[in-house]
Amino acid sequence: MPEFGALVDGYYRFRAGDYAAQKRRYDNLDHDGQHPPVMVISCCDSRVDPATIFDTVPGQMFALRNVANLVPPYQPDQRLHGASAAIEFAVVDLKVRHVVVMGHGKCGGITASLKGEDRGVAGPSFIDDWMTIIKQGRDRIVERAATDPALDAQRELEHEAIRISLQNLRTFPYVAEREAEGSLKLHGCWFAIADGELHVMDDDSGAFGPA
Ligand SMILES: [Zn+2]
Repeated sequence: MPEFGALVDGYYRFRAGDYAAQKRRYDNLDHDGQHPPVMVISCCDSRVDPATIFDTVPGQMFALRNVANLVPPYQPDQRLHGASAAIEFAVVDLKVRHVVVMGHGKCGGITASLKGEDRGVAGPSFIDDWMTIIKQGRDRIVERAATDPALDAQRELEHEAIRISLQNLRTFPYVAEREAEGSLKLHGCWFAIADGELHVMDDDSGAFGPA
């Protein structure tokens, strides 16, 4: 099982390379704390690491990764909300000025949502429950796909999930307030694994095009 050893080898390279080169930056982040201007919400998928895609430096981006880069609606019900806790911290405490929801091609969570079949997990499936966030969008697209065989349902739902997550972000009162006063901007992006191209969502039309 050499996989963990490969991680430690990578750490040694980081320690001798990037860490040494950015020692002053790390020292400043240690002394002054983090003040990232941007939060990115992206998928857990191993192919879409936002720090790699956006070529960021430590301290620049507050990242939240979850299955299919989804934002649930604001639900103050005292249950355990990991994604919402990260959003609250980024917006209220860190006062980020941008929140970027980045979807991607070949998203397994989106594929599972479209298939909608029993995944064979004993007992309740956390993924099935989680994907109900985009259930309405999924149902609309499955209905369209039934009469339009040319429709790329996977791509459509990957895009629609980003739009739904942006809508849900606006149900958090502190997000809506800051967006209204102009101190916070929301963005939608989609990364194509096949050609490494980033697409950006147009705020007005909701359409995606190359950055
Ligand atoms: Zn994904």
